[in-house]
Amino acid sequence: MKPVLCNYYLTFRSNDMPEYSSLWRDPDLQAVPEAGIDSIKTNFRDLAKLGIKEIVIDGGEPLLREDLPEILALAKEYKFKTHLTTNAILFEEKVKAIAPYLHHILFWLDYPMQEEHDRSRGTACFKQVLAGIDLAKKAGIQPILRYGLTLDNVRFLPELVDLAQTRGVKVWIEPVYDSKYSLSFFQDISLEHIKYYKNHPLVEFSFAALAFVRDRGNQKMWPRCKAVSTVITIFPDNSLAFPCFYLPQKRFKLDGDVFEVYTRPGFLTEIEKGQGKFPECQGCMAFSYMLPSFAVGFDRYFLLQWYSDWWSQRKQRRR
Ligand code: SF4
Repeated sequence: MKPVLCNYYLTFRSNDMPEYSSLWRDPDLQAVPEAGIDSIKTNFRDLAKLGIKEIVIDGGEPLLREDLPEILALAKEYKFKTHLTTNAILFEEKVKAIAPYLHHILFWLDYPMQEEHDRSRGTACFKQVLAGIDLAKKAGIQPILRYGLTLDNVRFLPELVDLAQTRGVKVWIEPVYDSKYSLSFFQDISLEHIKYYKNHPLVEFSFAALAFVRDRGNQKMWPRCKAVSTVITIFPDNSLAFPCFYLPQKRFKLDGDVFEVYTRPGFLTEIEKGQGKFPECQGCMAFSYMLPSFAVGFDRYFLLQWYSDWWSQRKQRRR
């Protein structure tokens, strides 16, 4: 099985303190050394050779990297479709330098109201998200609000849709990864709420994802997760992380050899055996890995994901 996507974490440094994230709380992660542009270039070369077409640039806060424009320019050179996720704090300062190289910019939104969002992020950045939407549009990139769904903020979907309509921006809803499995306890009423609002023209939430939430996420006895088979995860210190960002059980320090590692006989097959089967995998709803996973194998998630993609394209044509 060939991976289709790369989740590239350029830095773990953070300039906010999201309540559900552990990165900013860990001084060791905040001090993780970051690979220079030469290593990143070599990795991009290998990712292209492996047939990767899409890269998600993530962090930490990727806009903290001074060399981000050069990195994104390289990604464009290798013809990757590049998406970047940010809290928007530094976006105004950097938009001109990075806009030419991006397909989408995703702004984290924890709540559709200023007070709650700023509290949840541990810093005032709601206004920057709103300003970022306009700046991105002016710069010719499509902005998307990335709404990290939690047991608490699910009740604000009506306000979220109002905000999206007022600002004319698409919303991507995605349950936040929660290692305590509490998201497995979405009540039926919340699921109906999500189902109702996901039909809105500006809201994107996969039918397969909804079914997966209803089914209480990944089950380690019969794992649906194909994190290793479908996604390449690269950490800031120039290492591959297996099986995924959330559970880096195995790390592989890179030395210009992504292609060599991924084509080494038997290497991946061995690591694939563990994907979705660890104790922490029970109830996992990490959709940055699950959505690519749904494209593999033939079951109802595969069909629902296929239908979702069709539905989403139809909505886009009508917008
Ligand atoms: S189930 Fe979740 S935690 Fe486990 S390997 Fe897959 S993405 Fe990672």
